[in-house]
Amino acid sequence: METLQNLPVAIIGAGPVGLAAAAHLTLRNQPFILFEAGKTVASNVLTWKHVRIFSPWKYNIDKAARELLSAHGWVSPEEGLLPTGEEIYSKYLKPLSETVHIKPFLHLDSRVVSVGRKNLDKMKTSGREALPFVIQVLHDEKLIKQYEAKAIIDTSGTWSNPNPIGSGGTYAAGEIENGDKIFYGIPDVMGRYAERYKNKNVLVVGSGHTSIQAILELDKLKNKYPNTEIHWVLRKDLNRVYGGKDQDALAARGALGVQIENLVLEEKVNVYTPFQIQQILSRNNKLAVIGYQLDEQKMLPPMDEIISGTGSRPDFSFLREVRLSIDPGLESVLEIAELIDPNIHSCGTVRPHGEKELRHPDKDFYIAGSKSYGRAPTFLMATGYEQVRSIVAAISGDMEGAQKVELELPETGVCSTDFENNSCCGATRSKQRVNKKNDARQVSCCS
Ligand SMILES: Cc1cc2nc3c(=O)[nH]c(=O)nc-3n(C[C@H](O)[C@H](O)[C@H](O)COP(=O)(O)OP(=O)(O)OC[C@H]3O[C@@H](n4cnc5c(N)ncnc54)[C@H](O)[C@@H]3O)c2cc1C
Repeated sequence: METLQNLPVAIIGAGPVGLAAAAHLTLRNQPFILFEAGKTVASNVLTWKHVRIFSPWKYNIDKAARELLSAHGWVSPEEGLLPTGEEIYSKYLKPLSETVHIKPFLHLDSRVVSVGRKNLDKMKTSGREALPFVIQVLHDEKLIKQYEAKAIIDTSGTWSNPNPIGSGGTYAAGEIENGDKIFYGIPDVMGRYAERYKNKNVLVVGSGHTSIQAILELDKLKNKYPNTEIHWVLRKDLNRVYGGKDQDALAARGALGVQIENLVLEEKVNVYTPFQIQQILSRNNKLAVIGYQLDEQKMLPPMDEIISGTGSRPDFSFLREVRLSIDPGLESVLEIAELIDPNIHSCGTVRPHGEKELRHPDKDFYIAGSKSYGRAPTFLMATGYEQVRSIVAAISGDMEGAQKVELELPETGVCSTDFENNSCCGATRSKQRVNKKNDARQVSCCS
């Protein structure tokens, strides 16, 4: 009979962080199985393949992955260059997934639909830790198979679960009914979606990097098709959206703020802020968007299309039988909430953390990568790589290695793009979530 220790580790999701976990497990001689819902690895990354990201290659390649790839004659991209999503896939993640160490254990088109402890439901405690995990996986959208694992690393991301547009985090009235005219994410408007958006009235919703990237793409389209009209709805003050600009430690991220500010100053974008969307109605083949600007109800000019960049949230539906420890507000792993809370921190301020902070009541179950941040928008790949390095060390019994967490990110710098409710915009000093139990978000002002 197979003992618990002989079972593989199951990884859910083959994005950058799931594949890094596989690389670390390989180097530690730990057996693993890797399930990916999409037809290729990095399926979420490929939905924004046309976007050039803001962190250079240097921070986007995991150390264990680099070691495996280098042993196969792989040539690393130039460290200082900024890759597109497509390049991350073709120059890094695809070759990594095709190495002899990972390919035989990778299952594509395999969506994890349920996870639990073998023959023990969530309510029962006795003997729980000694039981394997059972994972049910839907293969090729038709066949469900069951697997056993000694540990689980859930790196399934959040990108495929976008937040709705409605101002309170719920759907705006009419949002679902008019879904065919709403795109959640960053459409490739200069390529695949040019016909859909050219010379149209397009509304972009949201204030984070996703919305900014979408507007910058639309501006390129407008240069070619001048009748394209860009509208932008957001809830916060524009100065906080522009971020740290030239003070940002990631220069390309800072440049996004400068570019969007210039577009606004040049009046190439019609801005409505603070605006809270309540309804999206269909009128004469256009969208009527109705909401509140301060206390006054307003209707925006008729729109042809909406692009939503209101963030995304984790999917816990397949984890109903796992004992989790999740922050009630952020939906992040509980222990890291105070490190990443956008009410308190701006991007890049996360201190290194690892296995210890990422534990759940169900032993040997971990959520890592962007999903570990829940709804917080500031996740960076380098953070996820360190998370899985530490988790894999612990699973392998190397607790000393697990506790030595280090993060090779540039010095913090200012990035206030994702600040909420904090008038001292841009600062990144220590502020506490004062009362975790009651989820109070009291923020002492920055000095
Ligand atoms: C436009 C954009 C730009 C970004 N720029 C940067 C940047 O410059 N620098 C940086 O460090 N980070 C950046 N990020 C943030 C982050 O690093 C990326 O989102 C990264 O892809 C997160 O990696 P991940 O592995 O955690 O999750 P994902 O890449 O989202 O991968 C999750 C994988 O899990 C799969 N999956 C989901 N559910 C299941 C299931 N039930 N069963 C099996 N598989 C499942 C998905 O198909 C997907 O392949 C950016 C993000 C976006 C969206």
